Amino acid sequence: RYDVLIVGAGHGGAQAALALRQHKYAGSVALLGDEPDPPYERPPLSKEYFSGEKSFERILIRPQAIWAERDIELQLLRRVVAVDPAEQNVVLSDGSRIGYGKLIWATGGAPRRLSCSGSDLMGVHNVRTRADADRMLAETPKVQNVVVIGGGYIGLEAAAVLAKLGKQVTVLEAMDRVLARVAGEPLSRFYEAEHRAHGVEIHLNAKMDCLIGHDGWVTGVRMSDGSVLPADMVVVGIGIVPAVEPLIAAGAASGNGVEVDEFCQTSLPNIYAIGDCAIHANPFAGGQRIRLESVQNANDQAITAARHIAGDAAPYHAVPWFWSNQYDLKLQTIGLSLGYDEVVVRGQSAARSFTLVYLSKGKVLALDCVNSVKDYVQGKALVITQATPDKSVLANPEIPIKSLLV
Ligand code: FAD
Repeated sequence: RYDVLIVGAGHGGAQAALALRQHKYAGSVALLGDEPDPPYERPPLSKEYFSGEKSFERILIRPQAIWAERDIELQLLRRVVAVDPAEQNVVLSDGSRIGYGKLIWATGGAPRRLSCSGSDLMGVHNVRTRADADRMLAETPKVQNVVVIGGGYIGLEAAAVLAKLGKQVTVLEAMDRVLARVAGEPLSRFYEAEHRAHGVEIHLNAKMDCLIGHDGWVTGVRMSDGSVLPADMVVVGIGIVPAVEPLIAAGAASGNGVEVDEFCQTSLPNIYAIGDCAIHANPFAGGQRIRLESVQNANDQAITAARHIAGDAAPYHAVPWFWSNQYDLKLQTIGLSLGYDEVVVRGQSAARSFTLVYLSKGKVLALDCVNSVKDYVQGKALVITQATPDKSVLANPEIPIKSLLV
């Protein structure tokens, strides 16, 4: 039995364990994960790790020795399959049980799979774990035609790396623009143009039928009009399914994830949930209940849960931020653009350094900053204060954002 048992040794789980100790929590802490590796950063899997710029050691969340130093019992290759809130224990895949005083559920999600035929062919990849990235890396030298299914951040980042490696890359996006779920149209059009300029084909409103193969390996993607795109590698980036089945089976309030309050407590006693799997009321989404898939959210919710357990509670109120690297473009996002009714563009996208400011009823909700670190740093205050700047001034990149703050 541990005083705190953390399930999931990814971004949120690792941060929760460290935050407990930072907040002087003295009880026993175990961090359980089902992967073979100690906690590592996931974002580089479609960026610097996939491109070979960073080794695995460089993407570890903390040096290996820290877990023992902080008296955190790290247990790898341990998968929790059931939770018993009445008995306060979890059941592992080998049938053994571990008791807990408090449980922190930090399991992220599993990549959403294609439902069509051919999705289990070799050469078809998801990008969620180090093992996924390593499998792709091992095959990359042998492939020429790659189809990326899904024009979200992960798909586009993988496309950028593969294009730089000289592969013929095609991105299939079901909607009428890439990044449609997360960004305004000017940003989508900018990234579509950038990818095309790097030789990537982008098919919008794409309707695929199935994957086809030969000898167990993928050879192409059949579209609904019968045409076939040749592919010796397919990368699927169509989102995740939150890994919350054991909590739901135990009776936790849930939807597309598990419901938590402002301290990351689930509806089950002594059980918290954090990160990609947690549905919460986000103050920067006007209090809407959402799941956020970002390192920021995983880390900050980890701190919220840890503080609550350590007796130093503070409700979750962190400003959302996110980033994406494609080619030489560094996108940094602050705030959440959900529900915007206007987008102001600062600067020229042709200059490859510009900012999109999202507003609702004149109030700033969020900024997407492309190669524009200053706007990102200064824009945070606009988001926090829900500033209502003069739009013609806001659109002028010569006028620093900080001068708009009163
Ligand atoms: P995870 O980090 O996924 O950790 C969950 C862990 O729990 C995993 O190791 C999982 O295997 C394990 N687990 C699951 N079920 C069980 C079980 N039953 N028992 C035991 N262990 C279990 N975010 C950004 O902010 N910026 C980016 O640029 C960015 N790029 C990304 C690129 C890629 C390729 C990916 C995959 C994600 C990216 N993200 C990015 C998202 C970010 O990585 C996630 O939001 C973050 O990892 C969420 O942390 P988490 O702790 O909720 O889940």
